[in-house]
Amino acid sequence: MLENYIIAYENLPFKVSGFIMYDAVDDYYTIVLNRRLSFWSNKKTFEHEIGHILNGDFFKIKNVEMLEMAMH
Ligand SMILES: [Zn+2]
Repeated sequence: MLENYIIAYENLPFKVSGFIMYDAVDDYYTIVLNRRLSFWSNKKTFEHEIGHILNGDFFKIKNVEMLEMAMH
């Protein structure tokens, strides 16, 4: 069970569904979702980003933007 994360809602551009920030010092993730999008969109994004964390993708590629480009 993943416990070292927090969810934050921000007003992001519509084309950005969300992203993750990782604090390597504290081993802590901030999953940023888009307040402008629907609950269901954010739920989907959340599950997608959790998948990255559980896959250990952040230990393969450090840059989140690069990670997202590599995965999609
Ligand atoms: Zn992704």
